[in-house]
Amino acid sequence: MKKCIKDIKIKNKTVIIRCDFNVPLKNGKIMDNTRIVKSLETIKYSIKENAKIILLSHLGRVKTEEDKKDKSLKPVAKELEKLLNQKVVFVEATRGDQVEEKVRALKPGEVLLLENTRFEDIEGKCESGNDQELGAYWASLADVFVNDAFGTAHRAHASNVGIASNIKISCIGFLIEKELIALEELNRPDKPFIVILGGSKVGDKIGVIENIVEKADKILIGGGMAFTFLKAEGYEIGNSLCDSEHLSFCEKMTTKYPEKIILPVDVKVTSEFSNDTPLVEKDIDELDFNDMGLDIGTNTVEVFKNYLKDAALVLWNGPLGVYEFENYKQGTDQILNTLADSKIKTILGGGDIVAAAQNANVADKIYHISTGGGATLEYLEGKALPGIEAIK
Ligand code: AMP
Repeated sequence: MKKCIKDIKIKNKTVIIRCDFNVPLKNGKIMDNTRIVKSLETIKYSIKENAKIILLSHLGRVKTEEDKKDKSLKPVAKELEKLLNQKVVFVEATRGDQVEEKVRALKPGEVLLLENTRFEDIEGKCESGNDQELGAYWASLADVFVNDAFGTAHRAHASNVGIASNIKISCIGFLIEKELIALEELNRPDKPFIVILGGSKVGDKIGVIENIVEKADKILIGGGMAFTFLKAEGYEIGNSLCDSEHLSFCEKMTTKYPEKIILPVDVKVTSEFSNDTPLVEKDIDELDFNDMGLDIGTNTVEVFKNYLKDAALVLWNGPLGVYEFENYKQGTDQILNTLADSKIKTILGGGDIVAAAQNANVADKIYHISTGGGATLEYLEGKALPGIEAIK
């Protein structure tokens, strides 16, 4: 495990913290401040330790001068002030005299936020392209670099890898530490270890399946991706989602791991991708050419629950049906509730299953919700995350 901020002396030092303040904004208003709230632990700790604090973050994608208008971090500075109950100095620049002057003026316990790091992408993608000069410049402003932005850890940007490579002391913040502690449990999983996979495309999950199949005791497959597996097994799947390019991968997996890979035994089908067309439940060998399966069926929920009842650790990526439609969210919700009401350590990773857990109001009863999106997926695929590797 990389060193955490609490393992490093930061008293009276200048720390530059890469946060994830990538919040949804509408007309300059923050629609959801969760990411800012989650960053507070590391920032408050630095304040308490009397460090001089420089904060960096990206916000959305910035390709043109026009994009800058609604991508400023100014509203984040205001929100931070409220949450910290202290002044946050906002600098409308990412480098230059103004930045250096404000950094020099910082006193212990004071907080400074620089403008959106991606403003540096307009001329030559300096941030996203990890421009050496930019990383070295940001590093020159501080004594210690703290990376606390897990969501961008799978990318080598100037504001993570660039700074870490140009500064003597670097570490992770509390948010990344929590993510790594939970995700590292998957490397030496408590047994039985059950993986639940859903979502739309098999193609997006191949890396995860390959990396996890040997460690998992069972892989329960639902969602759109189950139909490609079912088709590979010779079932009629009608108009259900099929990722034809990956049929042979599915066949290879079910042949090699027949006891491990568990597919639905029944599904909810309808005629169109809609919440409003009539639905029926059918056993998996009863589908017609015009059926479209949009959720796992009642018997499958029971089969899955049965595998889960003795589980010690569960990893879940991707919903088991079209959870955005009222009629097709039951499978996902029932399994989510079963896990939330149990003592099983459940780790949810990837955007859609996290959103489903929030919609079902069970998020706070789940052991760990990994919010890293792409970074979580790459971790689950067994890939190294450059933003974390670069920490010394
Ligand atoms: P992913 O990003 O691969 O995790 O996919 C998430 C999406 O899969 C969600 O938007 C779900 O609506 C969709 N999904 C889940 N089950 C099905 C299904 N049976 N047919 C079509 N889409 C599905």
